[in-house]
Amino acid sequence: MGTFKAIRIDKAEKGTTVALTQFDEADLMDGDVTVAVEWSTLNYKDGLAVTGKAPVVRRFPMIAGIDFAGIVEQSSHPQWKAGDRVVCNGWGMGETHLGSYAEKARVKGDWLVRLPDSISTRDAMAIGTAGYTAMLSVLALEKHGLTPGSGPVVVTGAAGGVGSVATAILSKLGYHVIASTGRMSEADYLKGLGAAEVIDRAELSGPAKPLAKERWAGGIDSVGSTTLANLLSMTKYGGAIAACGLAAGMDLPSSVAPFILRGVCLLGIDSVMCPLPQRKLAWSRLASDLDQGKLADITHEIGLDGVVDAGAKILAGQVRGRIVVKIL
Ligand code: NDP
Repeated sequence: MGTFKAIRIDKAEKGTTVALTQFDEADLMDGDVTVAVEWSTLNYKDGLAVTGKAPVVRRFPMIAGIDFAGIVEQSSHPQWKAGDRVVCNGWGMGETHLGSYAEKARVKGDWLVRLPDSISTRDAMAIGTAGYTAMLSVLALEKHGLTPGSGPVVVTGAAGGVGSVATAILSKLGYHVIASTGRMSEADYLKGLGAAEVIDRAELSGPAKPLAKERWAGGIDSVGSTTLANLLSMTKYGGAIAACGLAAGMDLPSSVAPFILRGVCLLGIDSVMCPLPQRKLAWSRLASDLDQGKLADITHEIGLDGVVDAGAKILAGQVRGRIVVKIL
């Protein structure tokens, strides 16, 4: 057994340290599948982990990174064999299980999803956990009964990772997308992804009224706090908001008025422990409902040595779209 390159996080007297270093293969955790990781990505949670800004990491030493795409190297799991192309999101990777910013990962075969033929390992990570979460949000809205005929849909944090992919998917599905952003300079970018309208997030960030003018039939919110409260108060009778993020805060200063007077639903989205059948559905829908040209437009590439700097930028709201991390 040898060593491989990895971004390692260790506990320090004050906080944590992070370093791109060699990791001993013998120290990989239990799992029945070993994967040669080709690509990973940078998600908001990765930013929190590599900067130590929030206690995402709960085991030391840790390899950072919450998702990967790669090729199975070795497997004792009945479903997987060497050479299979796989994607893995969440399940505690980078938190309690050694993560994906590494040339090798060892995980449970039950965590893996087979990549659809039309999605390369690079594209899988251009989508990443952010894009897969955007698709889980779309699936939740569809399950609620939302269709393009129901009315406009709002996407918050639209220039970010979840928001960019959500905007691209919803517009391809025929929705009238209202993209909310704090970066009005990105209006052309968002229109290029298919947004019909771009609004300044300041419109949604003040204290929310219990009920306000009905503006949309549904929405995908990656921001939380007063933004989510405003979204709910502006949702049409019978509509729904899928809540998946907390870029502005974990609080929800809302009232029950939208729920009990307009029958509005708040749909919670979790990608980390999401059951396998729903993951498979999300990845197959990403193959059909996300325009690959748009995905290329929203993505840029860094190496493992760029992850820590990019992690600080994503927390500062300075990353547009998606970042893929080249591993091999
Ligand atoms: P990004 O940083 O790429 O996007 C977040 C966007 O939110 C920013 O680009 C910005 O968009 C907006 N934003 C940032 N700060 C604020 C603020 N203070 N007030 C209002 N808007 C703000 O992150 P991701 O897209 O990767 O993740 C978004 C959120 O979703 C995160 O909170 C993340 O933890 C969560 N998430 C949850 C998952 C789940 O399983 N539930 C899975 C994946 C992500 P703009 O400039 O357009 O305003």
